[in-house]
Amino acid sequence: MIYQVVVDVANNNVDRLFDYEYDLDIPIGSHVLVPFGGRTVEGYILSETTKTDIDQSKIKKISRVLEDTPPIKEDLLKLLHFMCEYYHLRYIDVIRLLIPQAVRQDVGHMMEVTCTLNDDMSVVDEFVSKTRGSAKNILGAIQYLREFGASTKSDLSKKFSLATVNKLIKDKIIVTHSKVRYRVKYGAQEKDSIKLNDVQQSIVDEVTNSAPGVYLLHGVTGSGKTEVYMNIIKHALSTGKSAIMLVPEISLTPQVVRNFSKKFGEDIAVLHSGLSLGEKYDEWMRIYSGKARVVIGARSAIFAPVDNLGAIIIDEEHDGSYFSESNPRYYTHEVARFRAKESGCSLVLGSATPSIDSYHLAKIGQYKLLTMPERINKLPMPSIEIVDMAAEHRQGNDSIFSRIFLSELEGCIADGHQAMVYINRRGFASFLMCRECGYIPKCEDCDVSLVYHKEDNMLKCHYCGKRYRMLTGCPECGSHEIKLGGVGTERVCKELAEHFPNVPIYRMDNDTTRTKNAHAKILADFGSHSPSILVGTQMISKGHDFPNVTLVGILDADLSLFFNDFRATEKTYQLVTQVSGRAGRAKESGKVVLQTYFPKNYVYRYVANYDYEAFFDKEDNLRRITHFPPYSRLIRILVTSKDDTQAKDVAHDMFLKLKDLRRENPEEFYFLEAMRSPVARIKSVCRYQIVLRISDSLDIINKIYDIEKECRARDVVTFIELNAQNLK
Ligand code: ADP
Ligand code: ZN
Ligand code: ZN
Repeated sequence: MIYQVVVDVANNNVDRLFDYEYDLDIPIGSHVLVPFGGRTVEGYILSETTKTDIDQSKIKKISRVLEDTPPIKEDLLKLLHFMCEYYHLRYIDVIRLLIPQAVRQDVGHMMEVTCTLNDDMSVVDEFVSKTRGSAKNILGAIQYLREFGASTKSDLSKKFSLATVNKLIKDKIIVTHSKVRYRVKYGAQEKDSIKLNDVQQSIVDEVTNSAPGVYLLHGVTGSGKTEVYMNIIKHALSTGKSAIMLVPEISLTPQVVRNFSKKFGEDIAVLHSGLSLGEKYDEWMRIYSGKARVVIGARSAIFAPVDNLGAIIIDEEHDGSYFSESNPRYYTHEVARFRAKESGCSLVLGSATPSIDSYHLAKIGQYKLLTMPERINKLPMPSIEIVDMAAEHRQGNDSIFSRIFLSELEGCIADGHQAMVYINRRGFASFLMCRECGYIPKCEDCDVSLVYHKEDNMLKCHYCGKRYRMLTGCPECGSHEIKLGGVGTERVCKELAEHFPNVPIYRMDNDTTRTKNAHAKILADFGSHSPSILVGTQMISKGHDFPNVTLVGILDADLSLFFNDFRATEKTYQLVTQVSGRAGRAKESGKVVLQTYFPKNYVYRYVANYDYEAFFDKEDNLRRITHFPPYSRLIRILVTSKDDTQAKDVAHDMFLKLKDLRRENPEEFYFLEAMRSPVARIKSVCRYQIVLRISDSLDIINKIYDIEKECRARDVVTFIELNAQNLK
């Protein structure tokens, strides 16, 4: 048989199928060793054939099959081919999504060795009688095992020395048994304590009793979506199937894992970037072998090797993290749709603030819309008060806090409740500027201004992480008048501490959550202190359920409105609604103070009225008139190189060819433009981009891929983003 193998070498020139021969049957998806260019490399069998163009005498043999079972299961092979064709990804990049590094490196399980005494007591007795009384450790170990029956080898060695234990094993006095010890432990399953309300139950019934399809669950914050997901999954398990549940960033939502572990015990496996290699290995293997049937994880968990999928759930479906914006680029919803269809299961997308794209698909009938318009126990939604910050300043308040926010916060603290404070930036000041000449310090390698971090008195680049010493004066004109502009989380914490010296204040942003479990610790600390305040970036908006939070302050809502991005209003709507949704989730009602310089902007009116429908209608209409998604496909071709001229030449060449393509297909094109990227340089790499809006035609997309191929040049790397999100 001829097998077609992709070699595990990340190089454009070898990313194709190579023919090899093998006498025995090997399953497709197997991991093999093959001779390749004078050495032996690892590879994966992606298909088999009976014909080859290679001369019979020249065809090489597969050297070895590395595992008994193929690491890429059949349904995932189909997904691999779909992704390679649709996104034009390299085989090897998709394979690396399907088989995580820990498994490719074969990190292995941790084995636990248990020691017991030889069953034949006469052997032991004879050994003891022959052993002289001075061999205290030997007699001690035997006595210990007599008393306790068994011990792990490591415990026994700690008590009586490793040499002793090894000697007893060698003399067959101690018998050993080894078994896998999983590195991650989950709590035991608990009895269900929550009874679904009628709305929840009817949604679970509809999803589990209908033919497979895609559902969009629009449920306001606090409407109890998690219980709905868990019951859909429970139903899948009861029919012998498994499930995948995706959440935006799992370390931000330890609560979700806790709830799932209570419901499903050791049937869950959690995949996320915070795991060690060993932990990833164990979790993946538990899924692969069918020991864990409920997979919870961030977007890459959509590639988990579960058999027999019964449901896929994407929670907070509007979240930007479902777009992979670096190689390999993909959109999780598209991948999930493919997988659900192949498996014949339902896909449920849930959110309090669905993306315009998804809601549009529900409106035109491609998704089935399900709604949960009320909070659990009919709790009221928090009231949102919009504060005009320009008016505050005119009335003499120059603080970053409005008067109403401070007085609400005082009340909240006095009542012993908790508050969350949202600010879009980390650090202390988001930029520095010389008052004399207007100089702004920028990163040497990136085209962005530096952010001041007071804690370590440094300037940092938020794109590449490079650190710079704080300015003592202006390097351009020598002036010492340096202005700190823009407010970050650090400064908010400092000022809150001045107002509330005795209240614990926690900060959650990229700086405070670098270490493992830092998220969980901050959330646990905050959760166990009341009154207290949690200050944070968009991290605090993600699904947290703290019953004692009654006040949410949104200090600068406008920031996300003014990015050069057609989704800016949508993102602002989502963010403000999600942050607001953290307030008043239990007995006490909630209040939100939203500070803005644009109080009349329509997005805030819709947010304050919780009128998603009206917001959607306005936004959708705008997109239709202007031919933006969902009424077109927005594609970005990013052309990058260390050499500015080379990148520019390739972009220009491509642009001319695309113009020809437009001339031939005028009705398919709404927009075509080439430009330097808004962030012209990141980590010393120069960036150009071509932005297109086209009708969603696969034919045109394929022609764009062809043009990209024709224009390739050495030292220039090009990416085609089919679902361009961030045009920076
Ligand atoms: P959402 O994800 O929609 O914002 P959650 O799933 O976090 O909402 O639920 C909000 C709160 O309501 C949680 O504390 C949850 O335990 C509780 N809850 C959910 N369903 C019920 C129910 N049927 N009865 C009582 N409490 C419920
Ligand atoms: Zn200056
Ligand atoms: Zn930088």
